[in-house]
Amino acid sequence: MSKEQNTSAVTPSDPVERLATLRHEFGEHGGVNMSIEASTTFTVMEAGTMPEIFQGRLGPDDGGCFLYGRHFNPTVYVLGRQLAALEGAEAGYCTGSGLGAISCALLGMLNQGDHVVASDTLYGGTYAMLAEFLPAKCGITTTFVDIGDREAVAAACTDRTKVVYAESLSNPTLRLANLPMLAEVAHAHDAKLIVDNTFTPLAITPMEHGADVVVHSLTKFVNGASDFIAGAVCGTAEFVGSLMDLHMGPLMILGPTMDPQVAHSISLRIPHLPIRMVEHARRAQLFAERLLEAGVDVSYPGLPQHEDHELFREIGRPEYGFGGLLTIDAGSRERAESLMDDLQNTEGFGFMAVSLGYFDTLMSCSASSTSSEMSDDALRAAGIAPGLLRMSIGFTGSCEQRWQQLERALTRVGLIS
Ligand SMILES: *Cc1c(COP(=O)(O)O)cnc(C)c1O
Repeated sequence: MSKEQNTSAVTPSDPVERLATLRHEFGEHGGVNMSIEASTTFTVMEAGTMPEIFQGRLGPDDGGCFLYGRHFNPTVYVLGRQLAALEGAEAGYCTGSGLGAISCALLGMLNQGDHVVASDTLYGGTYAMLAEFLPAKCGITTTFVDIGDREAVAAACTDRTKVVYAESLSNPTLRLANLPMLAEVAHAHDAKLIVDNTFTPLAITPMEHGADVVVHSLTKFVNGASDFIAGAVCGTAEFVGSLMDLHMGPLMILGPTMDPQVAHSISLRIPHLPIRMVEHARRAQLFAERLLEAGVDVSYPGLPQHEDHELFREIGRPEYGFGGLLTIDAGSRERAESLMDDLQNTEGFGFMAVSLGYFDTLMSCSASSTSSEMSDDALRAAGIAPGLLRMSIGFTGSCEQRWQQLERALTRVGLIS
């Protein structure tokens, strides 16, 4: 498995076309699916090769062999290549979780005393890492800003700022990051732009707009079945390689290793990710339009009324729509909760559960669940109302069946008359 074989003469600019040009990895016996490399360690054929492998001089691409599963596994590497193709990155490698990918990407870029400028609307775990964990454990500090405000981002940058960090689509406020603007400001300050693209695989390709590193929680849309926790980091070959360095590489030293069995399962779902994303988005768009018409306070980037609709049209890929998530402001936490209760327990519309990107609809009240790491002030600053209900729209059942369930529940809780 040589890296040269991955690069065709012309790399297509479309993610699906890029994926189709990846060399197919056949199984050991010629199976259409690759085999799982279930070994944690790899045989060295001659004793003298071992020291050279450890010194990084003889890897699998230079006549040596693989070393050890925490360092590198061929099955995990195949999934990494798929993610890199998806994101238009030179290289990618996978981790045991999205937070594993995020923490390693950050620690790969940052040293003690360095500074991050980050969006004030981030996934709760990422927010906790930047606001509390990294300052206490590593002396790495973060200034949180409204990343839609160019001046605020620029003003927050100091001579120690090494990273500007954003999510493509913010959770749960569904604001689209202005990636070309953020890349420009970051690069003007010699900082790198890291983008978490968990919410918008295919619809948004951050590297086309100047991102240096893309991180994913593969637990969500990319996986699609809510059965594995997993993550990925995509970037230059040099950066991804540095994460595996035997002395200073956070993937190697902190060890958020992905299991090859998990890599194998997720790898088989990449080919139908485009079909799934189209259907998530098609249904989210339909429901958002009908909710708006019914007078419900709904937010979805596919609605012309959404603040970032035009920006999404500009930098997104319209054939994949505007994502699979929408939010409803039910006015109060109590009403949001009775709506979810009704939708799950009376109508069977979906499940009250955190996470997203599942084939069934998942619903959660963000302020009291996935964003509960944030203080009341931080929640208010980020625009996360107590009654904000986040829905990850699934694609089981028929559209009309699901809409009728939603309509009945909304009527019962008094959100439509
Ligand atoms: C879920 C999520 C994460 C964390 O991923 P895990 O796989 O749960 O570690 C990070 N960012 C976003 C946007 C997420 O939705």
